[in-house]
Amino acid sequence: MIVDPIRCKGHGICTLKFAERIDLDKWGYAVIDSEPFEEERLIKRAQRAVAACPEHALSIDE
Ligand code: SF4
Repeated sequence: MIVDPIRCKGHGICTLKFAERIDLDKWGYAVIDSEPFEEERLIKRAQRAVAACPEHALSIDE
């Protein structure tokens, strides 16, 4: 999972959808744990986070 730091506006919605891998820095911008994952459960949560970001700042790297 990748965050585009230019697009990210720090809404923080993403961490509510995928708290296992997305944290927020002290200004509220997304910080991604870049450890790869293959579990279906985590992939679904990642997809929900991508869909929820109002700035389209998140993407899933295959
Ligand atoms: S929801 Fe999108 S814009 Fe908001 S913190 Fe997460 S990545 Fe950034």
